[in-house]
Amino acid sequence: MKIAVVGTGYVGLVTGTCFAETGNDVTCIDIDEKKVNSLKNGKITIYEPGLEVIFQRNLEQGRLNFTTDLAEGIEGAKIIFLALPTPPGEDGSADLKYVLTVASDLGPILKEYAVIVDKSTVPVGTADKVHAAIKENAKVDFDVVSNPEFLREGVAVDDFMKPDRVVIGTTSEKAKKLMETLYAPLVRQGNPVIFMDEKSAELTKYAANSFLATKITFMNEIANMCELLGADVDSVRKGVGTDTRIGKRFLFAGIGYGGSCFPKDVQALAKSAQQVNYDFRILKSVMDVNEDQKTKLIPKIKEYFGGDLKGKTIGLWGLSFKPYTDDIREAPSLYNIEKLVEAGAQVKAYDPEGMENVQGQIGEKITYCHDAYSAINGADALLIATEWPVFRTPDFEKVAKLLNNKVIFDGRNLYSPEQMKDLGFTYVSIGRETIN
Ligand code: NAD
Repeated sequence: MKIAVVGTGYVGLVTGTCFAETGNDVTCIDIDEKKVNSLKNGKITIYEPGLEVIFQRNLEQGRLNFTTDLAEGIEGAKIIFLALPTPPGEDGSADLKYVLTVASDLGPILKEYAVIVDKSTVPVGTADKVHAAIKENAKVDFDVVSNPEFLREGVAVDDFMKPDRVVIGTTSEKAKKLMETLYAPLVRQGNPVIFMDEKSAELTKYAANSFLATKITFMNEIANMCELLGADVDSVRKGVGTDTRIGKRFLFAGIGYGGSCFPKDVQALAKSAQQVNYDFRILKSVMDVNEDQKTKLIPKIKEYFGGDLKGKTIGLWGLSFKPYTDDIREAPSLYNIEKLVEAGAQVKAYDPEGMENVQGQIGEKITYCHDAYSAINGADALLIATEWPVFRTPDFEKVAKLLNNKVIFDGRNLYSPEQMKDLGFTYVSIGRETIN
């Protein structure tokens, strides 16, 4: 099938590449000329494990194409995906300008029936708005479908190729058949394609992300209670997570959630609630708690240094918002950098994939190091912000030698307090005993 994907970021590039891999003829369209040229020339623009191999294969075999020209890109496409940004607007609601601009542009250039798919995370009612924007100048019949994306950065290819479920919001039988055909190779094991109306599909995505953000936040509050009561959050996590009604995932306490989705989606759902005069109290608490949680270790770092961070150097491990991605959007590391620099500290950082993006955003505000050990060489303390596997079993003798003080502030609970006690470190983590 010929398909088009408008927007070639984390979601668009994975969507396009994976559908090319299942034999479709895919054209990805983006307004960013530099990005399109790079992709055309076989240079991948994001770090996503497993993506590069299938990207190269499909590019070489001509099933994956890139252009900046919308009309050329959608020519002959039966399905057109919109994988465009929906950043928070000034009031916190999802900004639909990218989606609606492309929808308006599509109207006059559609030459035959096509299904336009909202892949972006969009508020309830957006499918109707997209429909209206296209219809204004459309000369042919078309359908608008809501098909939210549930992939996780870092494991996006696996998630896309073997989704737990596919949610498709449409009332059109014609659109339903086309979408069913496209997704059939991805659900051969029997995972469901769940059909529903457009509004329910739109809300499903926000409900899923907000629920996961709530689950993390709930555990962070339990961690805060553990600190006050002298309990251990890891033990509590194991004790509750083994209950199959609760499940083991998304229960790890830490310095808050970040990324391009959870913060903006929770905010957007809260705003949607407000717009229909519903007081969604849980979401307000989730946002509040997460805001505090991100920089929870900063007062403890200050306390360790007698209240003054001027002239201190902090080695920082981890910049990306989670491991296995170069995405730094809303990464807790950035909030910690801001607070540390504000307090007069210097920051020396290392991240396996996120440094280029951070440098692009904050420039030389911090020092970028070529490995984990260089980042702590001569530093006064180590702060861990992202749980990259490379940080899990360092050579602690070397760590002790390189640091000016044997002190670790661990925002991701990578080490056991017992081990740190044995090694003679001062060790501050989340929801667990502090080792002095
Ligand atoms: P992104 O910022 O990585 O990519 C968006 C792309 O759209 C960019 O390359 C940009 O240049 C392009 N673009 C902007 N305006 C355009 C236009 N007029 N024509 C063509 N291209 C245009 O965003 P993303 O992370 O891929 O997210 C896209 C949507 O998917 C968002 O709504 C997001 O909430 C949702 N989503 C993201 C994830 C994720 O993990 N990143 C997961 C599920 C859903």
